[in-house]
Amino acid sequence: MHCFEIRTANVDYLVGAEGPAGAPPPPHSGVGAYLARPWATALRHALLPVTKQEAPPEGAAAGAAAGAGGDADGAGGAGGAAGEGGAPGGEGRRPEMAQVYQIFPDEVLGSGQFGIVYGGIHRRTQRPVAIKVIDKLRFPTKQEAQLKNEVGILQNLSHPGVVDLERMFETPERVFVVMEKLRGDMLEMILAHEGGRLSERTTKFLVAQILVALKHLHSRNIVHCDLKPENVLLSSHDTFPQVKLCDFGFARIIGERSFRRSVVGTPAYLAPEVLRNKGYNRSLDMWSVGVIVYVALSGTFPFNEDEDIADQIQNAAFMYPPQPWKHISAEAIDLINNLLQVKQRKRLSVDKSVAHAWLQTGQAWADLRALEARVGRRYLTHPSDDQRWAAAE
Ligand code: ADP
Ligand code: MG
Repeated sequence: MHCFEIRTANVDYLVGAEGPAGAPPPPHSGVGAYLARPWATALRHALLPVTKQEAPPEGAAAGAAAGAGGDADGAGGAGGAAGEGGAPGGEGRRPEMAQVYQIFPDEVLGSGQFGIVYGGIHRRTQRPVAIKVIDKLRFPTKQEAQLKNEVGILQNLSHPGVVDLERMFETPERVFVVMEKLRGDMLEMILAHEGGRLSERTTKFLVAQILVALKHLHSRNIVHCDLKPENVLLSSHDTFPQVKLCDFGFARIIGERSFRRSVVGTPAYLAPEVLRNKGYNRSLDMWSVGVIVYVALSGTFPFNEDEDIADQIQNAAFMYPPQPWKHISAEAIDLINNLLQVKQRKRLSVDKSVAHAWLQTGQAWADLRALEARVGRRYLTHPSDDQRWAAAE
């Protein structure tokens, strides 16, 4: 039995190992659990702060942190890893955010309704992370519960199309949500493109990935409730990046035949049933996909800014002005029309959207296959379609 280990190239130190029964061994012997705590404290101090420029010397830092903090990655998140503070004579509480991660306050990756997202690193491994910092004091209690909602939902999701939650920390003033770091979001991509809109090929590629991620959510009765380009993260600045959904602050668990009524989402992306305070279910996300396709292809919202948006949404009075819609395929418009259906039962489901002619093309399939090859995982296409598209090539 020992409290933690320091591993070097040649020797492993088992710090805090118990000596023979009887009188405690003297401090300089290094034997005895009572010595582990000052060692751990000294090591922590030595490791703080870490800056981008000077990485901690390899062996020493890695070994010490591995044992001292019980710093198990990924697992558990909110619950904290087993063994934290578990060393005899340890503080008996979880490590603080700053001990495990370093935040870069100058590197703001984005912000939204709840928080600011900063770049950071995991100190031990130097792995880049994104850290969403939520200032609890800015929100009434009700929304504080929503922040935990995001963590609770993400903890139970593991899918290449959903941002990976690494860990959560909480202080009386703040919540820190540590996630894998991505390179930007779909809104930035739309705005950065020529004419402020995306090509059909790129849009198809992104939307197909959004649908695969949504299929996973919906199969687990999770409704995102706030889908919009800002909440669609991208893995790179290429034309064909991998997509991951983020921001589950409004997400809800809603069974197939149930409805919810609480307020969710962002006005311009909201379906009529939410605006009318009627019950909503997973078809809410499908409305949002319709708005996303519209916005990506045209760079504008499907509503006229001079009139009341809520009125227009409820009447589904959308326009396709010739500029730019005369350059856009009839299939794309057909898909949008089938998603922006006021009647929830008429709106396409995820499966029906995936099967829509606009998405079922050899080019779209080849683009997704190429991404699967890059990420080394097949989760976007199905082998049963291979023959069909191979024959078309
Ligand atoms: P909010 O709940 O405040 O809207 P989000 O989770 O949507 O917070 O994050 C806000 C913005 O921060 C996103 O729109 C995106 O631009 C950026 N962002 C969020 N998570 C990450 C991440 N893991 N990697 C890179 N950027 C991110
Ligand atoms: Mg957001």
